[in-house]
Amino acid sequence: MNKVLLISTGGTITMVRDGHSGALVPADIETFKAYMPELFAGDIQVEIEAFSPLLDSSDVNPDCWVRMAQMVYDRYEEFDGFVILHGTDTMSYSASALSFMLENLSKPVVFTGSQLPVGVLRSDAKENLLTAIEIAAAKDDEGNAIVPEVTIYFEDRLFRANRTTKRNAEHFSAFNSYNYPALAKAGVHITYQPHLVHYSDSKAPLTLHTTFDKNVAVLKLFPGIQQPVVRALLRTRGLKGVVLETFGAGNAPTDKWLYRELKAAVDRGIIIVNKTQCNTGSVEMGLYAVSLNLMKAGVLSGYDITTEALLTKMMLLLGESPEKAKDLIMKDLCGEMTID
Ligand code: ASP
Repeated sequence: MNKVLLISTGGTITMVRDGHSGALVPADIETFKAYMPELFAGDIQVEIEAFSPLLDSSDVNPDCWVRMAQMVYDRYEEFDGFVILHGTDTMSYSASALSFMLENLSKPVVFTGSQLPVGVLRSDAKENLLTAIEIAAAKDDEGNAIVPEVTIYFEDRLFRANRTTKRNAEHFSAFNSYNYPALAKAGVHITYQPHLVHYSDSKAPLTLHTTFDKNVAVLKLFPGIQQPVVRALLRTRGLKGVVLETFGAGNAPTDKWLYRELKAAVDRGIIIVNKTQCNTGSVEMGLYAVSLNLMKAGVLSGYDITTEALLTKMMLLLGESPEKAKDLIMKDLCGEMTID
């Protein structure tokens, strides 16, 4: 019997309505289990570990990422795969973070959750969770995990985690992977796309990275952005890394002050990476004249990476050392970006 460890951090899937405020709040894990007898009725052995208290994912932070990754790491040999129940709001951040923290992963770690609580009749909870468990336990004819990477399963698609973004607060199809195809699609059968899966060196041991440097920021450009705003952000004390969200193929206004502020920040040792505000497509610095100043200032290309993946990768690499961050930020570590 294949064994899956289910790690519950909370999220809507575990929630009930609060009697006083009427707002959704995470219930306790026993309440959740009572709604999900199917978990223990199939031919996959499921064990549960839960955060206490369970969290809304707006309260999930890098310390929580460390707790999740540590739970996987500590029980790695005992299980064939792992499912992490998580709120949808920040799931792409957590799942991206774990994809970088768990180096040389050779077992599935599948994040899932739901848009409606498990106790609601029309909930998407059961299908999401039961299919995620099946994917976490799935093996090929040689007994190897079919998708041994960190993924998000939602509605009917399995995506590489570090390619995802929450795109919808209403529809059951809450996530998308704009720059990389789905790794599997679930209908009557689950159809995997093994040629799209990222395999790490299976002989190398799993290595856990847990040090995050939170001195990072996202700077979203907009027409009319003013120098004091940019200057205040870039001169934030202790700042080490910036995700610069630019227009189109990585373009920015050509104001001289913007060039000077960016160049001065790079000269102070801050890593600035260019990420397009578009969901689909890639940064291509030099394609338009309006991106030349960014190159001259020393801004790096994030290619087609998501903000969620870039931010978590930056925090983790900076946590190891600024030199390592400079060295690796533009390298594809586990399928998070396409470098042409
Ligand atoms: N606020 C919830 C959370 O992220 C939303 C959800 O789970 O869908 O925890």
